[in-house]
Amino acid sequence: MSPKLFASLISAALLGVATAAAAAPAPVTFYVSTHGNDAWPGRLAAPNEARTDGHLASLAEPPRTFALENFARRSLNYLNRMVDTNGLPYFNIFWTDPAEAAHDWPDFGDVMARQFQAAIMARRMTGERAPIEAVWRRKLLELIDPETGLLTRPQTGFSQKVADPGDQALTLYALVTAYEDAPEESLKQVILKMTASLLARAGQGNGGGDGFLSGFIIKSLMASARVLHDQNALKLARKQVRRVFVESPLFSPDNTFRHGGHVHGNLRTLVGAADYALYVGDPVLFSRVDALYRYVRSEATSFGFLPEVIGRQGDVVATETCALMDYIGLAVTLANHGHPEYWGDVERVVRNQLAESQAAGLSWLKPAAGKADTGQFTWRDLAARLEGGYAGWSSPTHFLAACETLHWGGPELRGKTRAFQNCCGGSGTHGFFIAWKNAASFENGALSVHLHFDKLLPQAEIRGCQPFQGRLTVALKEDCVVRVRIPDFVEPGALKVEAGGAQVPPKVWGNYAELGRHPRGTTLTITYPLAPRTEDVQIGNPGFRHYRYRVHWRGDTVMAMEPLGNDYSTGYSDFEKKEVPVFYGKEGPGPLYQRAALLGTSEPGLTPLHVDDAKLNFWARLEAPPAQPPSP
Ligand SMILES: [Zn+2]
Repeated sequence: MSPKLFASLISAALLGVATAAAAAPAPVTFYVSTHGNDAWPGRLAAPNEARTDGHLASLAEPPRTFALENFARRSLNYLNRMVDTNGLPYFNIFWTDPAEAAHDWPDFGDVMARQFQAAIMARRMTGERAPIEAVWRRKLLELIDPETGLLTRPQTGFSQKVADPGDQALTLYALVTAYEDAPEESLKQVILKMTASLLARAGQGNGGGDGFLSGFIIKSLMASARVLHDQNALKLARKQVRRVFVESPLFSPDNTFRHGGHVHGNLRTLVGAADYALYVGDPVLFSRVDALYRYVRSEATSFGFLPEVIGRQGDVVATETCALMDYIGLAVTLANHGHPEYWGDVERVVRNQLAESQAAGLSWLKPAAGKADTGQFTWRDLAARLEGGYAGWSSPTHFLAACETLHWGGPELRGKTRAFQNCCGGSGTHGFFIAWKNAASFENGALSVHLHFDKLLPQAEIRGCQPFQGRLTVALKEDCVVRVRIPDFVEPGALKVEAGGAQVPPKVWGNYAELGRHPRGTTLTITYPLAPRTEDVQIGNPGFRHYRYRVHWRGDTVMAMEPLGNDYSTGYSDFEKKEVPVFYGKEGPGPLYQRAALLGTSEPGLTPLHVDDAKLNFWARLEAPPAQPPSP
C-alpha cells in the first residue's frame, strides 16, 4: 500500500465515510476522483456530502503547489457531465428546490462555442481529452448554415432561428482555436466562409450588431487574421475598431466606459483592439487601450473582484467569471507588450477571485430524487455535475452574490434565481489558460518567469511555493539566460538567489531580477520574505450601499476575507426594482476563501504538470503581422 493510499484511508475512516467491512480485514473500498479537489486550493475546512468521492485524500496530504493544470482538470468534470443526452450544455442553473438546469437560447452558439474552446484549452493544459469535445465540434459545424456560412440557432421551444452576432464571435474564436490546435483544410474553409459572410453583412450595415457586440468580435477576427492569414477578417476588424473608437464611441474621451457598461463585453472589445493595434502598428490606439485597462483596474479590487456591470444603480454588485477572463486577457496582452507592471495584477486575480470562482462542494444546491430529464430541464446529480464549473455572480465572500431572478425567456424560466450563468462555464478555463500559457516564456535563449505559478516548459520546470513559502525554483533543461519577475510585495533588495550552492547576485531591471546565464542541469532557488499583511477594501456602486472587507494577504494569496459588518439580508436590485436577498457578509451560499488549513503547511506537495509546447498563444508576440501577411 502506498503511503498516499494509507493516509487516504485513515482520513476517510476518521470522517466515517469509507465503506469498510466492519469485522473482517477485507479490502477497503474507496474512491479517488480524477477530478477531485486533492490539490490547492482544496477547501479543506468544509468537506460535505457532495464531495465524498476522492476529495478526502486532501485531508491526509499536504496541500500542493499552485498549478493551473488542476483547475483545468477539475473543469473536465463539468464540461463532460453538465450536458443533455445529445451533448447540448445548459445556460441556466436555477437555485430552486430542487435545483434545476434549463436550456436556453445561448446554448447552441454562445455556451457551446465557449465550452468547446475551453475543452481544447483544458486538453492542452492537462493532456486529457474530454469526450464531449468531439461532440461539440460536430454540433457546432452542423449548426453552421451552408448557405450563409453563419452559425444559426435552431427553432425550438426556447430558441428562435437566428444568426446572432455574439454567437458568430464566439464560434469563430473557437473554430480558429480548433484550427490552430489541429489544422485541417475543411475547417479552414468553414472559417474563411464565415468571415467573408460577416464582412459582406457589415457592408450592408447589419453585420456586427450594435453596442458591445460590434467590438466583441474583434479578437476573434484578429485570431483568424493571424492564424489563417484571413484578409476578410482583418478588414472587418478594421471596420469594427473604427466603429467602436470613432463612429459610435463605446468609450468616453477620457477613457472610461461611457454611461457604465457591461465589463465582459467592453473588455473583450479592448482585448481585440490591443491585438489589432499591435498588428497594424497603431501606438495611439494601443495607448488608449492601456488607459482603459487602468480605468477598469481602478474599478476592481487588488484580489480581482470586478463588477459585472460598472455603475449599476443599486446595492447589488457581483463578479462575472467571463469578465475576469477578459481582464486577464487584456492585462496579459499589455504586460507582454511593454507593460510588465501588470503581471502582478494577473497573479493576484488568478490566485484569488478566479480560483475561488471555480465551483466546489455545491451542497447548497438542493438535490432532486428521481426526477427524469425533460427536453429542456435536468435535475440529476447537479451538485456533482457542476463541480469544476464557474460562478456567474460571485461576491468577495460567496459563490453567489445575490438572488436576482430571470426576466427573459419563456414562462418556464422567469422569476427563478440563477445560481450559475454558464457562459462563465467555459470562460473560467479560458482565463486559467491565458495565465498558464503566459506564466513563463522562452525566447532567443532567455527564460522569463512572469508569474510565480508552477509551469513546465521544454526548457525548464518552474515551481512556485506561495503561499506556503516565499520561494520559486527554476530547474533548467537547457543553457539559458534567466529573468524572474519580482513580486509586487517584495523589496528588490530582499530577493535572494542561489544556484548550485552559490549565491547569485541579482541585477534588478524594472520589476525583474536578471539572473544571468546558467547551464542546463542548474536549479536556481529564488527566495523572498512572505510576511502577512492586511488591506481594507470596499466595493459597491456609486451612490448606493458599499460593503467593506479586511483582506488577509500572504504574498499574493488572500488567506481570509473578513467582512466588516456587511450582514445585510437584502439589498436593492435595479433589475428587480425591489429588495432581494444578498450575500456580502458571513452568511450565504458557497463560502469563499476557506483557506485557513493551508496555514498549517510549510512544504507543499508537487502537483503533476503538463508541458506547454507554446502553441495557441493569442496574447503574446503580437507586435508584427505573421510571416505571410495578408495584402492590404
Ligand atoms: Zn459569463
